Order: sequence, then C-alpha cells, then structure tokens
Amino acid sequence: MYFFQGLVYLALSCFHGHYHKLERTENIVIIGGGPAAHTAAIYAARAELNPVLYEGVAAGGQLITTTHIENFPGFPEEISGPALMEKMKKQSEKFGTRIVSENVIGIETHRGNNGLTLYTVHTATQSVKTRTVVVATGASAKRTDIPGTGDNELWNRGVSACTICDGSLPMFRNKIVFVIGGGDSAMEEALFLTKFASAVYIVHRRDTLRASKIMQSRAKNNRKIKILFSSVVTEAHGKDHLDAVTVRNLKNNTTEKHGASGLFFAIGHTPNTAFLPEEIQRDDTGYVLVEKGSTKTTMDGIFCAGDAHDKKWRQAITAAGTGCMAALEAERYLEETK
Ligand SMILES: Cc1cc2nc3c(=O)[nH]c(=O)nc-3n(C[C@H](O)[C@H](O)[C@H](O)COP(=O)(O)OP(=O)(O)OC[C@H]3O[C@@H](n4cnc5c(N)ncnc54)[C@H](O)[C@@H]3O)c2cc1C
Repeated sequence: MYFFQGLVYLALSCFHGHYHKLERTENIVIIGGGPAAHTAAIYAARAELNPVLYEGVAAGGQLITTTHIENFPGFPEEISGPALMEKMKKQSEKFGTRIVSENVIGIETHRGNNGLTLYTVHTATQSVKTRTVVVATGASAKRTDIPGTGDNELWNRGVSACTICDGSLPMFRNKIVFVIGGGDSAMEEALFLTKFASAVYIVHRRDTLRASKIMQSRAKNNRKIKILFSSVVTEAHGKDHLDAVTVRNLKNNTTEKHGASGLFFAIGHTPNTAFLPEEIQRDDTGYVLVEKGSTKTTMDGIFCAGDAHDKKWRQAITAAGTGCMAALEAERYLEETK
C-alpha cells in the first residue's frame, strides 16, 4: 500500500514537474465534503485562514442519500439531505473557501525551514503544500447487494442504513421492520426501533450472535424483537415503498416472504481513511485516533473531525461540532507555531 502511494507521488512529481517548486504554503487544507468538512471550512474561512477544501467524489457526504432530516436544529419543517448540504456548501463558499471536487490520494510530510512539519496534499491532478490539515472524510455505511435495495430501487424508500436518523419517521411507526446484522450495533439499532415499530425482526446469517452477552439478552428479552438465525434477506419488494422482504433460511434452504415497511442494514461502517499516512494512528477498524476531548491526531498540525474518527455517535450535528473544533484547534496551532 505505502509502496504504491510512493509510486503515485513519484509519478505525480514527474508529471507535474512542480512538486519541489510549490511556492505557496496554505494555512489549512480540509479534506471532505460532508457536515464536518463544511463546518470546519466556515470557521476557518471566517478566521481568514483562506481554506482549500477537497470535497472528493461524493460531495455532500452521506446525507446526500437521505430525503428526510428531522433532527438537525434550525429546520423545524425538516429538510432533505441534498438541500442541507447545498446550504452548508454555499455558506463555506460565501466566506471564501476554495472548493475542489477531487479525491485526495495521499499526504506527504516534510520539514519546513523553521523545523516545523509541513504537508503536501496530493490529488490525481494537483498538489498543495499546507501547514495544517483537517481530515473529515467520513465513513461509508456497509450494505450488501440485495436485489431491490439499490439507490435507484427502494433505498431511502423503506431501506436505510441509519436507524437513529430514520427509525422514528412516520413510515416506520407501528409497522414491521427488519434489521440485518448480528453485532452490538445491530442489537442497539433493533432495540431503538422497538420504540416506534410494532415488531422488529433481526436477520442474522449465523446461528449465534456476535453481539456482547448483555446486548444479546436485552434484544432477546424484548417482546417486540424476533431473531431469525441462519437467515439472509434475499430480496426487497415494493413499488414506491418497501412492502415485503424475502428471507432465506440457510439451514433448510427455504424462503419466506414477510410483509415489511422497513429494512435496516446494521453491519457496520468503513471509515474513509485508507489514504492517510501510517503515522496517523487508527484503530483496528480504520477509525482515526484523536486525543481525548480534542481533534488532534498523532501528527502535529493534522486534525480529524466527523465520522472518520467517531464510530459512536455518527450524526450530522456531532460531525459539524467536531468540524468546528478542528478548525479552532488548527487556528490555535497556526497561531502558536507562527
Ligand atoms: C441514510 C443515512 C441517513 C442519515 N440521516 C441522518 C439524519 O437524519 N440526521 C443526522 O444527524 N445524521 C444522519 N446520518 C448520519 C450523517 O450522514 C453522518 O453522521 C454525517 O454525514 C457524517 O459527516 P462527515 O462530514 O463526518 O462525513 P460524510 O458525510 O461521510 O462525508 C465524507 C466526505 O468526505 C469525502 N471524502 C471521502 N474520502 C475522500 C478523499 N480521499 N478525498 C477527498 N474527499 C473525500 C466524501 O466525498 C464526502 O463528501 C445519516 C446517514 C445515512 C447513511
């Protein structure tokens, strides 16, 4: 992986022929295009740090895939994900953020004249030198390839990957919903759904759960929850909205169609952090490790905000909150190392 990154840098240096000649050093480069990145950009731009923001190929981030946001303060009538992200982007640009729609493929470290670490952020077509970096590249909810659940099918029309975000929507209230997964988060999400749904089926492909004992017993003791072991969802059905799922029992190879208004993937998330240098420490699932109560990573001048480090809360408002922290911490770092 790192050998590959090295080759990419070398190729970029030769191709552009300007890597060692980068004259200008930016104050701050923000990587990401979701709520964390845009909040960091708004704060950094208002502090006259003149940020550059690489929004990546999935501009707007995870919220782009959702239609109803009822829990972001300031929008009592609810707002769609794309509309909210459009507003955030507009606000970043209003204060002068320079937005580039490219993915960052690597970050290189080198020493400045004064002994401070500087960074060069590379995309496939450009390189920019900077004193600080905010990593706000988020995470991707894992989904399996089940017919009927795709983006142009029933995704967002009964099929979701975020119970906290979508579970209380009217379309799931007093209805039967299905949750795919067998770990702690699947149990937690199923338990959360019991507040709204009439029944919650957990579909798990193995004959034992991976969840901790305590979470298993909470789920098993909830009278609204039923666990379908050794089973997989093989198809989601519905015209405008999900109305049924087909479940296959892997032990006896029988299938059954169940009426369902909701289908939630609860099989984890993958943080978008593979492109980061190895000096930025991550946990064994790839989440960036930050100092407690801070957005500081293990590299001076590199901060991390949003779902790229937060595997617990994973909400737009918490991502925005840590985006604000990252920009303020970067500003302070720039001040202290001037
Ligand atoms: C279906 C769904 C519905 C949701 N509904 C709600 C809700 O109602 N309320 C709520 O609070 N939360 C909701 N969430 C959760 C919320 O979307 C996330 O917590 C939030 O978007 C995280 O923000 P983020 O900025 O950390 O990252 P993300 O939103 O994941 O954005 C990451 C950004 O980083 C960019 N990126 C990634 N890699 C690179 C790279 N190498 N170079 C450059 N850019 C890169 C991507 O292009 C993307 O723009 C929902 C999530 C899902 C999946």
